[in-house]
Amino acid sequence: MGETLRSWKELPLSALPFKLSTEFKTGDWRTFRPVVDQEKCTRCLLCWVYCPDMSIVWDGQRISVNYDYCKGCGICARECPVKAIEMVKE
Ligand code: SF4
Ligand code: SF4
Repeated sequence: MGETLRSWKELPLSALPFKLSTEFKTGDWRTFRPVVDQEKCTRCLLCWVYCPDMSIVWDGQRISVNYDYCKGCGICARECPVKAIEMVKE
């Protein structure tokens, strides 16, 4: 008899019936890209909270965007309270 799993969390990721979004370069089909104005940005991190693809990167100093996974939805630009993010056509 094999070992009994105590929780689904003990399963390897490869056994899950779905793919994680980080396995796809969702930035491949973007038509608009968010561009951050570092002068305007107050580092409030609201864009980081709202990004559905975890594509906003906070390095402790500044905000940037991981364009490999940013799909260009524009939520970050809409939620930024000081309009520091502009959506620019690719
Ligand atoms: S455009 Fe959408 S996916 Fe890209 S960083 Fe902003 S919220 Fe995230
Ligand atoms: S929401 Fe706007 S001000 Fe806040 S961290 Fe993001 S870009 Fe900067």
